[in-house]
Amino acid sequence: MGASREAPIVFLMRFILINFVRLLFLVVLVMVLRAAFGYVARALGGRPAGPVSGASAAGGRGSSGELKKDPVCGVFVSVQSSVKKTIDGEVMHFCSAACRDKFRAA
Ligand SMILES: [Zn+2]
Repeated sequence: MGASREAPIVFLMRFILINFVRLLFLVVLVMVLRAAFGYVARALGGRPAGPVSGASAAGGRGSSGELKKDPVCGVFVSVQSSVKKTIDGEVMHFCSAACRDKFRAA
């Protein structure tokens, strides 16, 4: 009679263990599928990622946040690409050498 009382507990423990292992297997399966899907998505959509990273790298290098007004033609030019001339200790920014020469002549 003692053995017959033990059996349901063992069955229950095995039932829980099997369900736990099944759940674990399911989680692993989902992770593997997600990883596989991510790999395929990266392989298919890998090309757009390249130019995006390149553009961000170029933007970081340029740091074109600061704009200066060309005193000759009034155009705003980025400090990075402007034609610079120091006049009375102040750096002036021009859109082109022509504007710089015009300012000097004036
Ligand atoms: Zn100009």
